[in-house]
Amino acid sequence: MHILLVEDETDLRVLAANGLRRRGFAVDAVATLAAAHDCLGVARFDVAIVDRRLPDGEGLTLLPMLARHGVPALVATAYGELDDRIAGLDAGADDYLVKPYDLDEVSARLRALLRRPGQRQPPVLTHGTLRLDTGAQQAWLGPEPLDLGRREFALLRLLLEVMPAVVIRDVVQDRLYTLDEAFSPNALEAIVSRLRRRLAPGGYLIENRRGIGWRLVLPAPPS
Ligand code: CA
Repeated sequence: MHILLVEDETDLRVLAANGLRRRGFAVDAVATLAAAHDCLGVARFDVAIVDRRLPDGEGLTLLPMLARHGVPALVATAYGELDDRIAGLDAGADDYLVKPYDLDEVSARLRALLRRPGQRQPPVLTHGTLRLDTGAQQAWLGPEPLDLGRREFALLRLLLEVMPAVVIRDVVQDRLYTLDEAFSPNALEAIVSRLRRRLAPGGYLIENRRGIGWRLVLPAPPS
């Protein structure tokens, strides 16, 4: 799950970004509306957390752009007064947080937000014996939970979302790596290899389409 965090208080931004990463989210953290605009232009996000008072304007003004990109928004505000919450929800926020916020609560609310009907992806993706719960961030092969790292999980989700089509390499890179994380083609190949090994017991293959991307396939068993 890729989060855009817009928060200008450095301590809070670093604390929240690191805390959310430890809880399994990919996070791009920025301090201004302008930087948030730049991020939305180059990467795809599942959800945004937006502070209201930012150095270059009111955080709520970002909501129409987020809506155009299909990104639900959680608005954070330093003051919990009713007027602020109503303004946020009126402006199109999907939920709000009162600062200082507890990161376990934030994680739970992010997952709830992504489980809501009307969001782009169904909460649970299934194919054959493979099942992936996007809310619980867990996948299973038959009854067995799969032990997947954050990027392996994100890759499996992408493969299931588009199955039987090919996931293109750029999209994978976009979803698995935040903008400030070092990316290398070899690291991506290693993630694919690890996921391939995890899925092999179920008969699943990850086909490599050279220069294009990957495709998840389940060959018919020999008759
Ligand atoms: Ca602020």
